[in-house]
Amino acid sequence: MLPLALAFALSAVVAVAVTAVHLVRPERSPLTGVNALTGAMTAVLAVLNLVHTLTADPAVARPVAIASTLLASAVVAPVFCLSKIVADRSWRVHRRAVLLLATEPLLAAGLMLTDPWHGLFFAGFEPAGAAGTILPVTGPAYWAHMVYLYVLLSAGTVLVVRALWQAPRGQRELHGWTLTAFVPPIVANVVAMSLPVRIVDLTAIGLAGSLIIAYGAMLKSLPQQIPVAYRQVFDTISDVVAVIDRSGRILNINASARALLRRAGLPERPSGTPIAESLGLDFVLAENADTEQTLTDVLGRGVDLHLRISPLHDRRGHCIGWALVARDITEANRRRREAEESNARLREQLETIEALRADLAEQAVRDTLTGLYNRRHLMEVLAREIPRAAAEGTSLSLALVDVDHFKRINDTYGHDAGDVVLTHVAGLLAGEVRHGDVVVRYGGEEFVLLLPGAGAEDARARLDDLRRRTGRTPAEAEGHSLPVTFSAGVAALAPGQGPRDLLRAADRALYEAKRLGRDRVELAAAHPPRALEAGPGEAA
Ligand code: GH3
Ligand code: MG
Ligand code: MG
Repeated sequence: MLPLALAFALSAVVAVAVTAVHLVRPERSPLTGVNALTGAMTAVLAVLNLVHTLTADPAVARPVAIASTLLASAVVAPVFCLSKIVADRSWRVHRRAVLLLATEPLLAAGLMLTDPWHGLFFAGFEPAGAAGTILPVTGPAYWAHMVYLYVLLSAGTVLVVRALWQAPRGQRELHGWTLTAFVPPIVANVVAMSLPVRIVDLTAIGLAGSLIIAYGAMLKSLPQQIPVAYRQVFDTISDVVAVIDRSGRILNINASARALLRRAGLPERPSGTPIAESLGLDFVLAENADTEQTLTDVLGRGVDLHLRISPLHDRRGHCIGWALVARDITEANRRRREAEESNARLREQLETIEALRADLAEQAVRDTLTGLYNRRHLMEVLAREIPRAAAEGTSLSLALVDVDHFKRINDTYGHDAGDVVLTHVAGLLAGEVRHGDVVVRYGGEEFVLLLPGAGAEDARARLDDLRRRTGRTPAEAEGHSLPVTFSAGVAALAPGQGPRDLLRAADRALYEAKRLGRDRVELAAAHPPRALEAGPGEAA
């Protein structure tokens, strides 16, 4: 009797101490509240049991037995809540849970208080055992009540075991300790039932042991609870953060991540399948990987994400999961794409402008009627080719071609027929040139052939050839077949000559060809007499 009383007294002291320590310690955890409540209830229960053990007065024993039975059953509620919190760190004791958990104890209390009329819970009280402690005679409602308590405790146990099974390695400590804390009350009950005599319920003594284990567990596993304590910090981070287990399943996501998933119309708690699979992303969990991914929302729109994946290690350096930090870069990407598109448009416009400029430049050196180069181009080429021929010591010849009696064609057949003849001659001249030759409409019915590499005789022979061919090929204009001839003066570049000298020499030769009767080619004298020098164009 005395040892039992002492055990209850000790349990009461332990329960009070643990409760006090829970209330004054600075490290608050989600478990602090339920542990303190369990402690307080255990303390009262132990005191009631102590009184019950010591009394032989039925008037005292009866209310004490009723109160302790009520309290012992009420303690199961915070123990169940503790299991829920350990299994799911985000779970909190809410009003609905309190109401549900209070229902059965209230029912039991009602039955106990009305026992004098029906005796369903306690049929009566009788002295039991060697010590003569007054114990209740239990009725069917008592046993139904016990079944309820054990079902609730078993449900809590199953929750913790399942959570332990799913928790990543290195985060199972709290679950293990919680399960261990369930053991002392079970042992106490088994011991009480196996004794030959009936004694007072030993649950309070068992619970005292549980409280010590639970307190130790809370201290040891505080680091595991820090993520819970830091939840607010986690949730205020504007980046999307997800904690992933080793196999890629989401353990925890912050408010930004939930908001992102909500915006995308995706489930906010994608669990079971690895994150990449459940969100339709394509990345591998690798050491400090940076990747860009596109999350497709329910409407099929893409949300561009920049992902940074960092491994999480336990104390022994084993990878226990991953931290995934993502930033929505859809807007930045859209702006970048717009900039790229406008750059491409600008490039296109520049190319068009360049093409137009080249076209204009080409037009500036072309004659519109014949499509041949014009006099401006000839002067540019001469300015380049004469110094080159002089430097390389190569030949360069120039022929000035003038259509014979062209005025007559204009006068007889009209200006349009004259244009046809000019185009016809231009075609004949251009059709015979070699690579590097330049054919130019010099003005009116005059053309220039620049023949780099051709010496005087060679050039004259080629021009004579052209002249004969032209004479054989009449132009077709205004329904008439118009015979065309031309006269040409050929000059080969002499040392020290510039463009104007060369043109003047060819012009003098052309004048000579006209004078000698037209439809002929004359070669400029190697050293022309000074008196006969004249400007180009003056001969025709
Ligand atoms: P010659 O044999 O002495 O060279 O006699 P010509 O009639 O060919 O010479 P002239 O210089 O007297 O006449 C050239 C004419 O060419 C005068 C001008 O009206 C005409 N002409 C100049 N440019 C063009 C043109 O673009 N189209 C046409 N149809 N005629 C032009
Ligand atoms: Mg002429
Ligand atoms: Mg002329």
